[in-house]
Order: sequence, then C-alpha cells, then structure tokens
Amino acid sequence: MKKLKHIICSVIIGSLMIGVCACSSKGKATLTYIGHASVKIVASDGTVLYIDPSYNGDYSDDADYILVTHQHDDHKPNPNLTLKEGGRLIDNLEALHDGIYETYELGPFKVEAVPAGGNPNHNVKYCVGYLVTVDGITIYHAGDTSKIEQMGDLKSRNIDYAMFPIDGIYNMDAIEATEAAALVGAKHNIPIHEFDQGGSKKSDNFNPDGKLVIEYGGTITLKK
Ligand SMILES: [Zn+2]
Ligand SMILES: [Zn+2]
Repeated sequence: MKKLKHIICSVIIGSLMIGVCACSSKGKATLTYIGHASVKIVASDGTVLYIDPSYNGDYSDDADYILVTHQHDDHKPNPNLTLKEGGRLIDNLEALHDGIYETYELGPFKVEAVPAGGNPNHNVKYCVGYLVTVDGITIYHAGDTSKIEQMGDLKSRNIDYAMFPIDGIYNMDAIEATEAAALVGAKHNIPIHEFDQGGSKKSDNFNPDGKLVIEYGGTITLKK
C-alpha cells in the first residue's frame, strides 16, 4: 500500500479559483495535471497510471502503467519517471495497428485506445487518444488532435472527465476544442496542451459546458 501523501492542489473552475486545499489521495481516485499533455491518475487502491508523461514535473510516484498517445517528443516518457518492475508501457504503435484500436485491463484500470489526429501534424492512422475507466469513473485524454467526427461516438460513453488540446498551432484551437467537447459530451472538460501556461490564456476561449481548468501540478479528486 502506498504511503499516504498530502498533495497541495489548486483547481479553478471556469475563471474562478474555487479552492486551494491540502487533499489526501488515499481512498479516492485522483487526477493530477502535471503540465502540457501530462497527466497522472491514481486509483483508489494506489495504482498509478500516467498518460503522456513528458512534461518536466513531479514524477516522485513510480508508474504502474504508462500510456503514450503518439511519438512526438512532448509526449514521450520523461527520463525522471520510473516504471515499476512488472509495470507496463503502452504506446500508440501497440494500441493502434492495422486500423484496430486495442483495449486493455490494467489492474484497476480499463484502457481503450480511440481515434485521434485529423490535422497535418497528426495522422489519424498513427495517433490515439485513450478512454480510461477506474473506480467507475471514465476519463478521456484526447491526445494530439483536431475535432474529428469519431469523437461523436464517445457521447454514449457518458464520460466524466475529458481533456482536449487547445494550442491552435499543432492541433485545434480553443474554439474548435469547445466544439469537440460538445461532440464528446463529457461532464467536465479540461483544457491541456496549451503552450502558453503563465502567458496569454488560450483557455479563456475554451468554453464548453462543464469547463474545468486545472493548474500545472494541481490535483482533483475524481467524482461520478
Ligand atoms: Zn504531437
Ligand atoms: Zn503535443
């Protein structure tokens, strides 16, 4: 069992800061936005899964599982992250082959690769997003992508938390990402891959229902 850790988290919903709290991750699944496209999800039993853990942040929790959406350097695992012995890394090359999107049972996590891409930098043949279900909560990491029609297939999945790139340089911008979020229909919609943290606020133009901005290093407790 992992040692109980106290995590200082700050979460902003919309443009309003609603809380800065000392939270415990024990007993409830949590999601930490490390930065850029990098996310850590910890199950209620302490199992640790990272998605695209490239950004230079806190990797003090070793990984049981690592998911990689595509082969650009800003998505490949950070050298400071340790994969536990017996742990598993799954990347897009494994999760999508010959047009087949794989599904995995990884401890408490169910992981499904889903389509991503649809822009000149990201070919839908080689890129994936991931649906991760843990403790009854479904999370969608869109990967690097523009709005693609396949996102509409996710609406029936009743996604609780969805993350969308909003950079408007390599992927869709925040306005198109707002449309993508409407297609997916998740309860909470988190902007990522912004490329301007601390500078101009592209996320100001990301305005789906259920907008949830998490600052770099912020942790939320996942709820149904
Ligand atoms: Zn990319
Ligand atoms: Zn990227």
